[in-house]
Amino acid sequence: MCGIIGYTGYSGAKKKIITGLEALEYRGYDSAGAKIGENIVKATGRVRNLDLELEKIQDSKIGIGHTRWATHGEVSRENAHPHKVGKITLVHNGIIENHMELKRELLEEGVDFISTTDTEVACALINKYYLSLGNIEEAILKAMERFVGSYAFAIMVEEDSESI
Ligand code: GLU
Repeated sequence: MCGIIGYTGYSGAKKKIITGLEALEYRGYDSAGAKIGENIVKATGRVRNLDLELEKIQDSKIGIGHTRWATHGEVSRENAHPHKVGKITLVHNGIIENHMELKRELLEEGVDFISTTDTEVACALINKYYLSLGNIEEAILKAMERFVGSYAFAIMVEEDSESI
């Protein structure tokens, strides 16, 4: 079962995200990733591997982190969360059962996918509605009307550098 942690505050997102992910390691996972400020880093295997990647990037006042338990798509860096499509970056716990149907629709509309996860499809759908509605809460609610499955997300939007 995966783990999600988010932090927005005054400083030191890196340390808080790693500490949070370490506390969630007992739940089991196969890869980990984080968005710290503008930078996304990912690693397969232990949270320690992600920590080594985080050393290479700048710290920030905001971040989200994720330990993944793969359900759709192999264990790989590309499939590790966070996923970013357009203006939306997110991490996800759960399964979007109708992701194939949604993906077909989005592919027809010209969306490119990097991973083979159900999560990237959810990200692309929220991005689609965000682009048309211009409001993240409304975009999430509209996407939720389409999702079949179970899900918890932590979401960051490009235009808002302070909120999760
Ligand atoms: N279904 C998603 C994936 O396979 C999320 C799995 C999880 O909850 O970690 O990437």
